Amino acid sequence: MKAVFIEQPGGRDALRYGDFAQPEAGPGQVLVKISVSGVNFIDTYHRSGLYKLPLPAVLGTEGAGTVAAIGEGVTGFRVGDPVAYAMARGSYAEYAAVPAHLVVRVPAGLNAQQAAAAMLQGMTAHYLTHSTFAIEPGHTALVHAAAGGTGRLISQMVKLRGGKVIGTAGTREKAEVARKAGADEVILYREQDLVGEVKRLTDGKGVEVVYDGVGEATFMQSLDCLKPRGMMATFGNASGPVKAFDPLLLSAKGSLFLTRPTLANYSSPDEVKWRSSDVLGWILNKKLDLLIERVYPLADAAQAHADLEGRKTTGKLILTV
Ligand code: NDP
Repeated sequence: MKAVFIEQPGGRDALRYGDFAQPEAGPGQVLVKISVSGVNFIDTYHRSGLYKLPLPAVLGTEGAGTVAAIGEGVTGFRVGDPVAYAMARGSYAEYAAVPAHLVVRVPAGLNAQQAAAAMLQGMTAHYLTHSTFAIEPGHTALVHAAAGGTGRLISQMVKLRGGKVIGTAGTREKAEVARKAGADEVILYREQDLVGEVKRLTDGKGVEVVYDGVGEATFMQSLDCLKPRGMMATFGNASGPVKAFDPLLLSAKGSLFLTRPTLANYSSPDEVKWRSSDVLGWILNKKLDLLIERVYPLADAAQAHADLEGRKTTGKLILTV
Protein backbone atom coordinates (compact mmCIF):
# COMPACT_ATOMS: atom_id res chain seq x y z
CA MET A 1 0.00 0.00 0.00
CA LYS A 2 1.03 3.64 -0.35
CA ALA A 3 1.95 5.39 2.90
CA VAL A 4 3.90 8.29 4.39
CA PHE A 5 6.46 6.93 6.86
CA ILE A 6 9.78 7.65 8.53
CA GLU A 7 12.84 5.41 8.68
CA GLN A 8 14.61 7.80 11.05
CA PRO A 9 13.26 10.78 13.00
CA GLY A 10 14.09 14.20 11.65
CA GLY A 11 12.88 17.27 9.82
CA ARG A 12 10.22 17.30 7.13
CA ASP A 13 12.69 15.71 4.70
CA ALA A 14 12.56 12.57 6.87
CA LEU A 15 9.05 11.90 5.52
CA ARG A 16 9.00 9.23 2.81
CA TYR A 17 6.07 8.60 0.47
CA GLY A 18 6.05 5.13 -1.06
CA ASP A 19 5.18 1.47 -0.60
CA PHE A 20 4.82 0.07 2.90
CA ALA A 21 3.65 -3.38 4.10
CA GLN A 22 -0.12 -3.41 4.44
CA PRO A 23 -1.30 -4.26 7.99
CA GLU A 24 -3.81 -7.02 8.74
CA ALA A 25 -6.66 -7.02 11.24
CA GLY A 26 -5.21 -8.79 14.29
CA PRO A 27 -7.30 -10.04 17.22
CA GLY A 28 -9.41 -7.17 18.61
CA GLN A 29 -8.63 -4.94 15.61
CA VAL A 30 -10.52 -3.46 12.70
CA LEU A 31 -8.74 -2.93 9.39
CA VAL A 32 -9.81 0.47 8.08
CA LYS A 33 -9.50 1.40 4.40
CA ILE A 34 -8.61 5.03 4.90
CA SER A 35 -9.95 7.74 2.64
CA VAL A 36 -9.04 10.77 4.79
CA SER A 37 -6.36 11.23 7.44
CA GLY A 38 -6.32 14.07 9.94
CA VAL A 39 -3.10 16.03 10.45
CA ASN A 40 -2.23 16.81 14.06
CA PHE A 41 0.66 18.42 15.87
CA ILE A 42 1.48 15.05 17.46
CA ASP A 43 2.44 13.81 13.97
CA THR A 44 5.27 16.37 13.96
CA TYR A 45 6.48 15.12 17.38
CA HIS A 46 6.48 11.55 16.03
CA ARG A 47 8.41 12.71 12.95
CA SER A 48 10.98 14.76 14.90
CA GLY A 49 11.58 12.09 17.55
CA LEU A 50 10.22 14.19 20.46
CA TYR A 51 7.84 11.24 20.93
CA LYS A 52 9.75 8.03 20.19
CA LEU A 53 8.40 5.36 17.82
CA PRO A 54 9.59 1.88 16.80
CA LEU A 55 10.96 2.34 13.26
CA PRO A 56 10.13 2.34 10.42
CA ALA A 57 6.80 3.94 11.28
CA VAL A 58 3.80 5.18 9.35
CA LEU A 59 2.70 8.56 10.73
CA GLY A 60 -0.81 9.86 11.39
CA THR A 61 -3.06 9.26 14.38
CA GLU A 62 -6.56 9.85 13.03
CA GLY A 63 -8.52 8.64 10.04
CA ALA A 64 -11.86 7.95 8.42
CA GLY A 65 -12.90 5.47 5.74
CA THR A 66 -14.60 2.10 5.63
CA VAL A 67 -14.17 -1.25 7.38
CA ALA A 68 -12.03 -3.51 5.16
CA ALA A 69 -11.69 -6.51 7.52
CA ILE A 70 -12.56 -7.51 11.06
CA GLY A 71 -10.18 -9.24 13.46
CA GLU A 72 -10.91 -12.14 15.78
CA GLY A 73 -13.24 -11.31 18.66
CA VAL A 74 -14.52 -8.03 17.20
CA THR A 75 -18.28 -7.57 17.07
CA GLY A 76 -20.51 -4.69 16.02
CA PHE A 77 -18.91 -3.89 12.65
CA ARG A 78 -19.49 -5.09 9.09
CA VAL A 79 -17.18 -4.79 6.09
CA GLY A 80 -18.04 -1.56 4.29
CA ASP A 81 -19.28 0.35 7.38
CA PRO A 82 -18.23 4.01 7.33
CA VAL A 83 -15.96 4.52 10.37
CA ALA A 84 -13.52 6.94 11.96
CA TYR A 85 -11.00 6.76 14.79
CA ALA A 86 -8.28 8.62 16.67
CA MET A 87 -5.24 7.73 18.80
CA ALA A 88 -4.03 4.75 16.80
CA ARG A 89 -0.98 5.49 14.71
CA GLY A 90 -0.67 4.76 10.98
CA SER A 91 -3.36 6.85 9.27
CA TYR A 92 -1.06 8.42 6.62
CA ALA A 93 -1.70 5.28 4.56
CA GLU A 94 -4.26 3.37 2.54
CA TYR A 95 -4.97 0.93 5.39
CA ALA A 96 -4.59 0.94 9.18
CA ALA A 97 -5.25 -1.79 11.76
CA VAL A 98 -6.96 -0.10 14.69
CA PRO A 99 -8.02 -1.41 18.15
CA ALA A 100 -11.78 -1.90 17.83
CA HIS A 101 -12.66 0.17 20.90
CA LEU A 102 -11.21 3.28 19.22
CA VAL A 103 -13.30 2.84 16.06
CA VAL A 104 -16.71 4.50 15.78
CA ARG A 105 -19.35 4.37 13.08
CA VAL A 106 -19.74 7.67 11.21
CA PRO A 107 -23.38 8.80 11.48
CA ALA A 108 -25.42 9.42 8.33
CA GLY A 109 -25.12 13.07 7.33
CA LEU A 110 -21.38 13.37 8.01
CA ASN A 111 -18.78 12.67 5.35
CA ALA A 112 -15.33 11.15 5.80
CA GLN A 113 -13.56 14.53 5.69
CA GLN A 114 -15.68 15.85 8.55
CA ALA A 115 -15.28 12.66 10.57
CA ALA A 116 -11.50 12.55 10.13
CA ALA A 117 -11.26 16.24 10.99
CA ALA A 118 -13.34 15.94 14.14
CA MET A 119 -12.14 12.88 16.02
CA LEU A 120 -8.78 13.69 17.61
CA GLN A 121 -9.08 17.42 18.23
CA GLY A 122 -12.80 17.10 19.05
CA MET A 123 -12.33 14.38 21.66
CA THR A 124 -9.35 16.31 23.06
CA ALA A 125 -11.42 19.47 23.45
CA HIS A 126 -14.14 17.29 25.00
CA TYR A 127 -11.97 15.65 27.67
CA LEU A 128 -10.27 18.94 28.55
CA THR A 129 -13.54 20.85 29.04
CA HIS A 130 -15.66 17.98 30.43
CA SER A 131 -13.22 15.85 32.43
CA THR A 132 -9.80 17.44 33.11
CA PHE A 133 -11.39 20.69 34.26
CA ALA A 134 -15.16 20.51 33.82
CA ILE A 135 -16.34 23.98 32.88
CA GLU A 136 -19.37 25.30 34.73
CA PRO A 137 -21.36 28.47 34.10
CA GLY A 138 -19.40 31.42 35.48
CA HIS A 139 -15.96 29.92 34.84
CA THR A 140 -13.47 31.76 32.65
CA ALA A 141 -10.94 29.76 30.61
CA LEU A 142 -7.77 31.04 28.96
CA VAL A 143 -7.45 29.10 25.68
CA HIS A 144 -4.10 29.42 23.89
CA ALA A 145 -3.90 29.25 20.08
CA ALA A 146 -7.67 29.68 20.03
CA ALA A 147 -7.80 29.81 16.22
CA GLY A 148 -5.98 26.47 15.89
CA GLY A 149 -7.60 23.11 15.28
CA THR A 150 -7.89 22.14 18.94
CA GLY A 151 -8.20 25.70 20.30
CA ARG A 152 -11.26 26.51 18.17
CA LEU A 153 -13.04 23.41 19.44
CA ILE A 154 -12.06 24.00 23.08
CA SER A 155 -13.40 27.56 22.83
CA GLN A 156 -16.72 26.36 21.43
CA MET A 157 -17.11 23.68 24.11
CA VAL A 158 -16.34 26.12 26.94
CA LYS A 159 -19.15 28.28 25.53
CA LEU A 160 -21.51 25.29 25.18
CA ARG A 161 -21.00 24.64 28.92
CA GLY A 162 -21.73 28.25 29.86
CA GLY A 163 -18.17 29.46 30.44
CA LYS A 164 -16.34 32.53 29.21
CA VAL A 165 -13.33 32.31 26.85
CA ILE A 166 -10.28 34.50 26.75
CA GLY A 167 -8.39 33.28 23.69
CA THR A 168 -4.89 34.01 22.45
CA ALA A 169 -3.84 34.27 18.82
CA GLY A 170 -0.69 35.02 16.86
CA THR A 171 -2.18 37.45 14.32
CA ARG A 172 -5.17 39.74 13.87
CA GLU A 173 -6.60 37.40 11.22
CA LYS A 174 -6.36 34.49 13.64
CA ALA A 175 -7.97 36.63 16.37
CA GLU A 176 -11.00 37.01 14.07
CA VAL A 177 -11.19 33.22 13.59
CA ALA A 178 -11.05 32.78 17.37
CA ARG A 179 -13.83 35.34 17.91
CA LYS A 180 -16.01 33.55 15.36
CA ALA A 181 -15.45 30.33 17.34
CA GLY A 182 -16.88 32.07 20.39
CA ALA A 183 -13.91 33.66 22.16
CA ASP A 184 -15.31 36.56 24.19
CA GLU A 185 -11.93 38.28 24.23
CA VAL A 186 -8.75 37.65 22.26
CA ILE A 187 -5.23 38.63 23.31
CA LEU A 188 -2.57 39.01 20.62
CA TYR A 189 0.06 37.27 22.71
CA ARG A 190 2.97 38.12 20.39
CA GLU A 191 2.48 41.84 20.97
CA GLN A 192 0.33 42.36 24.08
CA ASP A 193 1.17 41.72 27.74
CA LEU A 194 -0.60 38.37 28.30
CA VAL A 195 -0.72 38.42 32.10
CA GLY A 196 -1.64 42.12 32.27
CA GLU A 197 -4.47 41.66 29.77
CA VAL A 198 -5.87 38.58 31.53
CA LYS A 199 -5.82 40.45 34.85
CA ARG A 200 -7.50 43.47 33.24
CA LEU A 201 -10.22 41.31 31.65
CA THR A 202 -10.93 39.46 34.92
CA ASP A 203 -10.92 42.49 37.26
CA GLY A 204 -7.59 41.38 38.67
CA LYS A 205 -8.86 37.93 39.67
CA GLY A 206 -7.38 35.61 37.03
CA VAL A 207 -9.00 32.60 35.34
CA GLU A 208 -10.15 29.26 36.74
CA VAL A 209 -8.33 27.24 34.07
CA VAL A 210 -5.71 27.59 31.35
CA TYR A 211 -5.83 25.16 28.42
CA ASP A 212 -2.29 25.46 27.05
CA GLY A 213 -1.23 23.52 23.95
CA VAL A 214 1.59 25.97 23.15
CA GLY A 215 3.93 24.69 25.87
CA GLU A 216 7.32 26.21 26.58
CA ALA A 217 6.67 29.74 25.28
CA THR A 218 3.54 30.35 27.37
CA PHE A 219 3.89 28.04 30.39
CA MET A 220 5.27 30.43 33.03
CA GLN A 221 3.04 33.33 32.02
CA SER A 222 0.03 31.02 32.01
CA LEU A 223 0.62 30.18 35.68
CA ASP A 224 0.41 33.91 36.46
CA CYS A 225 -2.99 34.13 34.72
CA LEU A 226 -4.63 31.71 37.17
CA LYS A 227 -6.74 32.39 40.25
CA PRO A 228 -5.47 30.82 43.47
CA ARG A 229 -6.20 27.07 43.29
CA GLY A 230 -6.71 27.34 39.53
CA MET A 231 -5.91 24.53 37.09
CA MET A 232 -3.10 24.60 34.55
CA ALA A 233 -3.76 22.00 31.85
CA THR A 234 -0.59 21.96 29.74
CA PHE A 235 -1.55 19.56 26.96
CA GLY A 236 0.92 20.21 24.15
CA ASN A 237 4.32 21.41 22.93
CA ALA A 238 3.66 23.49 19.79
CA SER A 239 6.50 25.85 20.81
CA GLY A 240 8.58 23.13 22.50
CA PRO A 241 8.25 21.03 25.66
CA VAL A 242 7.95 22.75 29.05
CA LYS A 243 11.23 22.78 31.04
CA ALA A 244 11.59 21.17 34.47
CA PHE A 245 10.80 23.46 37.42
CA ASP A 246 10.45 23.41 41.20
CA PRO A 247 6.91 22.48 42.37
CA LEU A 248 7.25 25.08 45.15
CA LEU A 249 6.48 27.57 42.38
CA LEU A 250 2.90 26.23 42.28
CA SER A 251 2.56 27.06 45.96
CA ALA A 252 4.05 30.54 45.54
CA LYS A 253 1.66 31.31 42.68
CA GLY A 254 -1.48 30.31 44.59
CA SER A 255 -1.64 26.57 45.40
CA LEU A 256 -2.15 25.85 41.71
CA PHE A 257 -3.06 22.49 40.20
CA LEU A 258 -0.97 21.28 37.28
CA THR A 259 -1.77 18.44 34.90
CA ARG A 260 -0.15 17.22 31.70
CA PRO A 261 -2.98 15.16 30.16
CA THR A 262 -3.17 13.14 26.96
CA LEU A 263 -6.22 11.85 25.10
CA ALA A 264 -4.85 8.31 25.44
CA ASN A 265 -5.76 8.35 29.15
CA TYR A 266 -9.25 9.73 28.52
CA SER A 267 -10.14 7.07 25.92
CA SER A 268 -11.67 4.10 27.73
CA PRO A 269 -14.23 2.28 25.53
CA ASP A 270 -17.10 4.10 27.27
CA GLU A 271 -15.34 7.44 27.01
CA VAL A 272 -14.66 7.03 23.29
CA LYS A 273 -18.40 6.34 22.77
CA TRP A 274 -19.42 9.32 24.92
CA ARG A 275 -16.94 11.82 23.51
CA SER A 276 -17.26 10.82 19.85
CA SER A 277 -21.06 10.74 19.91
CA ASP A 278 -21.14 14.19 21.53
CA VAL A 279 -18.62 15.63 19.06
CA LEU A 280 -20.08 14.08 15.89
CA GLY A 281 -23.64 14.76 17.08
CA TRP A 282 -22.88 18.43 17.77
CA ILE A 283 -21.38 18.81 14.29
CA LEU A 284 -24.49 17.21 12.77
CA ASN A 285 -26.88 19.48 14.66
CA LYS A 286 -24.64 22.51 14.09
CA LYS A 287 -23.83 23.18 17.73
CA LEU A 288 -20.16 22.74 16.84
CA ASP A 289 -18.58 24.40 13.83
CA LEU A 290 -15.78 22.44 12.19
CA LEU A 291 -13.35 24.44 10.06
CA ILE A 292 -11.46 22.31 7.53
CA GLU A 293 -8.96 24.88 6.36
CA ARG A 294 -6.68 22.92 4.08
CA VAL A 295 -6.92 19.63 2.17
CA TYR A 296 -3.70 18.04 0.81
CA PRO A 297 -3.08 14.82 -1.12
CA LEU A 298 -1.35 12.18 1.02
CA ALA A 299 1.90 12.62 -0.91
CA ASP A 300 2.05 16.27 0.26
CA ALA A 301 2.12 15.47 3.98
CA ALA A 302 5.45 17.32 4.30
CA GLN A 303 3.79 20.53 3.10
CA ALA A 304 1.03 20.07 5.67
CA HIS A 305 3.68 19.72 8.39
CA ALA A 306 5.48 22.83 7.14
CA ASP A 307 2.28 24.87 7.26
CA LEU A 308 1.29 23.59 10.73
CA GLU A 309 4.75 24.09 12.24
CA GLY A 310 5.08 27.46 10.50
CA ARG A 311 2.00 28.82 12.36
CA LYS A 312 0.38 29.42 8.98
CA THR A 313 -2.90 27.63 9.65
CA THR A 314 -6.19 27.93 11.46
CA GLY A 315 -8.70 25.13 11.97
CA LYS A 316 -8.02 21.64 10.67
CA LEU A 317 -5.69 20.17 8.04
CA ILE A 318 -6.50 16.84 6.38
CA LEU A 319 -4.89 14.52 3.82
CA THR A 320 -6.91 12.70 1.19
CA VAL A 321 -5.70 9.16 0.57
P1 NDP B 1 -2.91 24.00 15.97
O1 NDP B 1 -3.83 24.02 14.82
O2 NDP B 1 -3.36 24.61 17.25
O3 NDP B 1 -1.55 24.66 15.54
C1 NDP B 1 -0.62 25.06 16.50
C2 NDP B 1 -0.76 26.54 16.84
O4 NDP B 1 0.04 26.80 17.98
C3 NDP B 1 -0.21 27.46 15.77
O5 NDP B 1 -1.10 27.74 14.72
C4 NDP B 1 0.11 28.71 16.58
O6 NDP B 1 -1.04 29.55 16.71
C5 NDP B 1 0.43 28.14 17.99
N1 NDP B 1 1.87 28.28 18.27
C6 NDP B 1 2.41 29.04 19.24
N2 NDP B 1 3.73 28.98 19.22
C7 NDP B 1 4.07 28.16 18.20
C8 NDP B 1 5.32 27.73 17.67
N3 NDP B 1 6.50 28.12 18.19
N4 NDP B 1 5.30 26.89 16.61
C9 NDP B 1 4.15 26.47 16.09
N5 NDP B 1 2.93 26.85 16.55
C10 NDP B 1 2.90 27.69 17.60
O7 NDP B 1 -2.44 22.48 16.25
P2 NDP B 1 -3.25 21.29 16.92
O8 NDP B 1 -4.64 21.70 17.19
O9 NDP B 1 -2.98 20.05 16.13
O10 NDP B 1 -2.49 21.10 18.30
C11 NDP B 1 -2.46 22.14 19.25
C12 NDP B 1 -1.73 21.62 20.48
O11 NDP B 1 -2.55 20.68 21.13
C13 NDP B 1 -0.41 20.93 20.17
O12 NDP B 1 0.52 21.26 21.17
C14 NDP B 1 -0.77 19.47 20.29
O13 NDP B 1 0.31 18.66 20.62
C15 NDP B 1 -1.78 19.53 21.42
N6 NDP B 1 -2.66 18.36 21.48
C16 NDP B 1 -2.59 17.59 22.60
C17 NDP B 1 -3.43 16.53 22.77
C18 NDP B 1 -3.41 15.81 24.07
O14 NDP B 1 -4.29 14.96 24.32
N7 NDP B 1 -2.47 16.08 24.96
C19 NDP B 1 -4.33 16.09 21.69
C20 NDP B 1 -4.39 17.03 20.59
C21 NDP B 1 -3.55 18.10 20.48
P3 NDP B 1 -0.82 31.15 16.85
O15 NDP B 1 -0.13 31.59 15.58
O16 NDP B 1 -2.20 31.70 17.00
O17 NDP B 1 0.05 31.34 18.05
